Amino acid sequence: MTNADCVFCDRIARGDLVAVNELAVAFLDAFPLNEKHCLVVSRRHEPDFLGLTQEEQAAIWALVVVVRRHIETNGIPDGYNLGINIGAAAGQTVAHAHLHVIPRHLGDVRDPRGGIRSIIPAKARYWETQ
Ligand code: 5GP
Ligand code: ZN
Repeated sequence: MTNADCVFCDRIARGDLVAVNELAVAFLDAFPLNEKHCLVVSRRHEPDFLGLTQEEQAAIWALVVVVRRHIETNGIPDGYNLGINIGAAAGQTVAHAHLHVIPRHLGDVRDPRGGIRSIIPAKARYWETQ
């Protein structure tokens, strides 16, 4: 099932994919946070990651491993952030379930501590409140 207005359904149809399996695909993010930032998405158009079936979620996680191999063909990043935004309140901007695979490099931000906690910047630095 696809959605005619969805950029990811359109992207899946156009090909040039980093990795594929029966229920999911991976491609490069068009506006990468770092080089080789990839998105792993369900083939089926479903906005909510947790609305995917267990099989679809497992297919996405299986491709994360393949994407990591792709990213590491020409050098190994210092780390990764894996991220899933669900709903506009959580920051989701494309309403087709996806998982971000973001390679990280020491020095790409001044202080990376807390990582995903920076979604709420004022509360990210819990160690300063202890
Ligand atoms: P979200 O905010 O929904 O978690 O993430 C959406 C992601 O999709 C963003 O990282 C953004 O850069 C990426 N993106 C938006 N439009 C396109 C597009 O047309 N093609 C690709 N490959 N990525 C896109
Ligand atoms: Zn879609």
